Amino acid sequence: MKFNIAIDGPSAAGKSTIADILAERLGYNHLDTGAMYRAVAYKALRDGTDLEDEEAIVEMIGGMDLVMNADGTVILEGEDVSEAIRTEEISMGASTVSKLQGCREALVAMQQKICEEGGYILDGRDIGTVVLKDAPVKIYMVASPEARAERRLKQNLEKGIESDYETILEDIIKRDYQDTHREHSPLRKADDAVEIDTSYMTIEEVVDAVLEIIREKTGE
Ligand code: C5P
Repeated sequence: MKFNIAIDGPSAAGKSTIADILAERLGYNHLDTGAMYRAVAYKALRDGTDLEDEEAIVEMIGGMDLVMNADGTVILEGEDVSEAIRTEEISMGASTVSKLQGCREALVAMQQKICEEGGYILDGRDIGTVVLKDAPVKIYMVASPEARAERRLKQNLEKGIESDYETILEDIIKRDYQDTHREHSPLRKADDAVEIDTSYMTIEEVVDAVLEIIREKTGE
Protein backbone atom coordinates (compact mmCIF):
# COMPACT_ATOMS: atom_id res chain seq x y z
CA MET A 1 0.00 0.00 0.00
CA LYS A 2 1.29 3.45 -0.85
CA PHE A 3 1.38 5.92 2.02
CA ASN A 4 2.11 9.64 2.03
CA ILE A 5 5.38 11.29 3.06
CA ALA A 6 5.64 14.74 4.66
CA ILE A 7 8.69 16.98 4.18
CA ASP A 8 8.80 20.34 5.94
CA GLY A 9 11.45 22.95 6.51
CA PRO A 10 12.52 26.50 5.68
CA SER A 11 13.00 27.78 2.14
CA ALA A 12 15.90 26.43 0.08
CA ALA A 13 16.71 23.62 2.53
CA GLY A 14 16.54 21.16 -0.38
CA LYS A 15 13.00 19.86 0.14
CA SER A 16 11.86 20.01 -3.49
CA THR A 17 15.04 18.54 -4.95
CA ILE A 18 14.95 15.63 -2.51
CA ALA A 19 11.20 15.09 -2.94
CA ASP A 20 11.65 14.92 -6.76
CA ILE A 21 14.37 12.29 -6.52
CA LEU A 22 12.48 10.24 -3.91
CA ALA A 23 9.30 10.36 -6.00
CA GLU A 24 11.23 9.04 -8.98
CA ARG A 25 12.88 6.22 -6.97
CA LEU A 26 9.73 5.15 -5.13
CA GLY A 27 7.29 5.60 -8.00
CA TYR A 28 5.44 8.27 -5.99
CA ASN A 29 4.15 11.72 -6.99
CA HIS A 30 5.67 14.92 -5.65
CA LEU A 31 3.31 17.75 -4.70
CA ASP A 32 5.15 21.05 -4.14
CA THR A 33 2.68 22.86 -1.87
CA GLY A 34 4.78 26.04 -1.88
CA ALA A 35 4.05 26.33 -5.61
CA MET A 36 0.34 26.60 -4.74
CA TYR A 37 0.94 29.57 -2.42
CA ARG A 38 3.16 31.03 -5.14
CA ALA A 39 0.40 30.62 -7.75
CA VAL A 40 -2.03 32.47 -5.45
CA ALA A 41 0.49 35.32 -4.99
CA TYR A 42 1.20 35.40 -8.74
CA LYS A 43 -2.47 35.72 -9.66
CA ALA A 44 -3.16 38.31 -6.95
CA LEU A 45 -0.21 40.47 -8.03
CA ARG A 46 -1.19 40.17 -11.70
CA ASP A 47 -4.86 41.01 -11.05
CA GLY A 48 -4.09 43.80 -8.57
CA THR A 49 -5.65 41.97 -5.60
CA ASP A 50 -4.33 43.11 -2.21
CA LEU A 51 -2.17 40.28 -0.80
CA GLU A 52 -3.31 41.09 2.74
CA ASP A 53 -7.06 41.25 1.97
CA GLU A 54 -8.22 37.85 3.26
CA GLU A 55 -11.75 38.05 1.89
CA ALA A 56 -10.59 39.03 -1.59
CA ILE A 57 -7.87 36.37 -1.66
CA VAL A 58 -10.24 33.61 -0.50
CA GLU A 59 -12.79 34.65 -3.13
CA MET A 60 -10.05 34.68 -5.76
CA ILE A 61 -8.93 31.13 -4.81
CA GLY A 62 -12.56 29.94 -5.05
CA GLY A 63 -12.65 30.88 -8.72
CA MET A 64 -9.06 29.97 -9.52
CA ASP A 65 -8.31 27.32 -12.16
CA LEU A 66 -5.07 25.78 -10.85
CA VAL A 67 -3.67 22.46 -12.06
CA MET A 68 -0.71 20.87 -10.27
CA ASN A 69 0.63 18.33 -12.78
CA ALA A 70 2.45 15.15 -11.77
CA ASP A 71 5.48 16.30 -13.80
CA GLY A 72 5.77 19.36 -11.52
CA THR A 73 4.39 21.93 -13.96
CA VAL A 74 1.96 24.47 -12.54
CA ILE A 75 -0.86 25.56 -14.83
CA LEU A 76 -2.83 28.65 -13.85
CA GLU A 77 -5.84 29.40 -16.01
CA GLY A 78 -4.33 27.46 -18.89
CA GLU A 79 -0.96 29.24 -18.64
CA ASP A 80 2.22 27.39 -17.62
CA VAL A 81 3.51 29.56 -14.75
CA SER A 82 6.07 27.03 -13.42
CA GLU A 83 9.00 29.41 -14.02
CA ALA A 84 7.17 32.72 -13.54
CA ILE A 85 6.32 31.86 -9.90
CA ARG A 86 9.99 31.43 -8.95
CA THR A 87 10.99 35.11 -8.68
CA GLU A 88 11.98 36.70 -5.35
CA GLU A 89 8.92 38.99 -5.59
CA ILE A 90 6.60 35.98 -5.77
CA SER A 91 8.53 34.23 -2.95
CA MET A 92 7.80 37.13 -0.61
CA GLY A 93 4.22 37.42 -1.94
CA ALA A 94 3.63 33.72 -1.24
CA SER A 95 4.91 34.20 2.30
CA THR A 96 2.49 37.12 2.72
CA VAL A 97 -0.67 35.35 1.46
CA SER A 98 0.27 32.23 3.43
CA LYS A 99 -0.34 34.17 6.64
CA LEU A 100 -4.07 34.34 5.87
CA GLN A 101 -6.02 31.58 7.58
CA GLY A 102 -8.68 31.48 4.84
CA CYS A 103 -6.00 31.06 2.17
CA ARG A 104 -4.37 28.24 4.16
CA GLU A 105 -7.67 26.43 4.72
CA ALA A 106 -8.51 26.52 1.00
CA LEU A 107 -5.09 25.27 -0.11
CA VAL A 108 -4.84 22.62 2.64
CA ALA A 109 -8.22 21.19 1.52
CA MET A 110 -6.97 21.02 -2.10
CA GLN A 111 -3.73 19.31 -0.99
CA GLN A 112 -5.53 16.72 1.13
CA LYS A 113 -7.87 15.93 -1.78
CA ILE A 114 -4.98 15.49 -4.23
CA CYS A 115 -3.16 12.94 -2.04
CA GLU A 116 -6.12 11.12 -0.46
CA GLU A 117 -5.28 7.86 -2.29
CA GLY A 118 -1.68 7.81 -0.97
CA GLY A 119 1.55 7.63 -2.96
CA TYR A 120 2.42 11.32 -2.56
CA ILE A 121 5.41 13.19 -1.18
CA LEU A 122 4.31 16.64 -0.07
CA ASP A 123 6.81 19.34 0.75
CA GLY A 124 5.97 22.59 2.51
CA ARG A 125 5.82 24.21 5.96
CA ASP A 126 2.75 22.63 7.60
CA ILE A 127 2.63 19.16 6.06
CA GLY A 128 3.59 17.15 9.16
CA THR A 129 1.68 19.43 11.53
CA VAL A 130 -1.55 20.10 9.58
CA VAL A 131 -1.96 18.64 6.06
CA LEU A 132 -0.77 15.07 6.75
CA LYS A 133 -0.90 14.80 10.54
CA ASP A 134 -1.08 10.98 10.26
CA ALA A 135 1.70 10.46 7.72
CA PRO A 136 3.91 7.54 8.79
CA VAL A 137 7.04 9.33 7.56
CA LYS A 138 7.73 12.97 8.44
CA ILE A 139 10.99 14.71 7.66
CA TYR A 140 12.03 18.13 8.93
CA MET A 141 14.80 19.39 6.68
CA VAL A 142 16.97 22.29 7.80
CA ALA A 143 20.22 24.00 6.70
CA SER A 144 22.02 27.16 7.75
CA PRO A 145 20.79 30.38 6.06
CA GLU A 146 24.25 30.77 4.44
CA ALA A 147 24.22 27.26 2.94
CA ARG A 148 20.70 27.86 1.64
CA ALA A 149 21.60 31.26 0.13
CA GLU A 150 24.58 29.71 -1.66
CA ARG A 151 22.41 26.95 -3.11
CA ARG A 152 19.76 29.40 -4.29
CA LEU A 153 22.43 31.59 -5.91
CA LYS A 154 23.83 28.56 -7.76
CA GLN A 155 20.34 27.50 -8.88
CA ASN A 156 19.62 31.01 -10.15
CA LEU A 157 22.93 31.13 -12.05
CA GLU A 158 22.10 27.82 -13.71
CA LYS A 159 18.71 29.12 -14.72
CA GLY A 160 20.18 32.40 -15.98
CA ILE A 161 18.33 34.42 -13.29
CA GLU A 162 20.30 37.46 -12.15
CA SER A 163 20.70 37.66 -8.36
CA ASP A 164 23.24 38.43 -5.65
CA TYR A 165 24.19 36.52 -2.51
CA GLU A 166 23.48 39.30 0.02
CA THR A 167 19.95 39.96 -1.25
CA ILE A 168 19.14 36.24 -1.34
CA LEU A 169 20.45 35.79 2.22
CA GLU A 170 18.41 38.76 3.46
CA ASP A 171 15.26 37.40 1.77
CA ILE A 172 15.81 33.93 3.27
CA ILE A 173 16.20 35.35 6.78
CA LYS A 174 13.14 37.58 6.35
CA ARG A 175 11.02 34.72 4.98
CA ASP A 176 12.18 32.38 7.79
CA TYR A 177 11.03 34.98 10.28
CA GLN A 178 7.63 35.44 8.60
CA ASP A 179 7.08 31.68 8.23
CA THR A 180 8.00 30.82 11.84
CA HIS A 181 6.25 33.77 13.50
CA ARG A 182 2.88 33.82 11.74
CA GLU A 183 -0.23 33.16 13.78
CA HIS A 184 -1.69 30.32 11.68
CA SER A 185 0.26 27.07 11.14
CA PRO A 186 3.72 28.56 11.64
CA LEU A 187 6.64 26.50 10.39
CA ARG A 188 7.67 24.11 13.14
CA LYS A 189 8.89 20.55 13.44
CA ALA A 190 6.11 18.03 14.11
CA ASP A 191 6.78 16.06 17.33
CA ASP A 192 7.08 12.82 15.35
CA ALA A 193 9.23 14.25 12.52
CA VAL A 194 12.88 13.32 12.04
CA GLU A 195 15.20 16.31 11.58
CA ILE A 196 17.97 16.30 8.96
CA ASP A 197 20.48 19.15 8.76
CA THR A 198 21.53 19.21 5.10
CA SER A 199 24.09 22.07 5.41
CA TYR A 200 27.08 19.80 4.86
CA MET A 201 25.41 16.91 3.06
CA THR A 202 25.34 16.09 -0.63
CA ILE A 203 22.00 15.47 -2.33
CA GLU A 204 22.76 11.75 -2.53
CA GLU A 205 23.55 11.62 1.22
CA VAL A 206 20.24 13.30 2.06
CA VAL A 207 18.33 10.92 -0.23
CA ASP A 208 20.01 7.92 1.47
CA ALA A 209 19.21 9.31 4.92
CA VAL A 210 15.52 9.75 4.02
CA LEU A 211 15.31 6.27 2.46
CA GLU A 212 16.75 4.87 5.70
CA ILE A 213 14.11 6.74 7.74
CA ILE A 214 11.37 5.38 5.43
CA ARG A 215 12.68 1.83 5.98
CA GLU A 216 12.81 2.32 9.74
CA LYS A 217 9.32 3.81 9.97
CA THR A 218 7.48 1.56 7.52
CA GLY A 219 9.62 -1.53 7.05
CA GLU A 220 9.65 -0.86 3.25
O1 C5P B 1 8.36 26.26 -0.52
P1 C5P B 1 8.36 27.65 -1.12
O2 C5P B 1 9.56 28.45 -0.78
O3 C5P B 1 8.09 27.61 -2.59
O4 C5P B 1 7.08 28.35 -0.46
C1 C5P B 1 6.79 29.71 -0.67
C2 C5P B 1 6.09 30.26 0.58
O5 C5P B 1 4.80 29.65 0.72
C3 C5P B 1 6.81 29.97 1.90
O6 C5P B 1 7.74 30.97 2.25
C4 C5P B 1 5.67 29.90 2.90
O7 C5P B 1 5.37 31.18 3.41
C5 C5P B 1 4.49 29.45 2.09
N1 C5P B 1 4.15 28.05 2.32
C6 C5P B 1 3.35 27.74 3.40
N2 C5P B 1 2.94 26.46 3.60
C7 C5P B 1 3.33 25.48 2.77
C8 C5P B 1 4.18 25.77 1.67
C9 C5P B 1 4.59 27.07 1.49
O8 C5P B 1 3.01 28.62 4.19
N3 C5P B 1 2.89 24.24 2.98
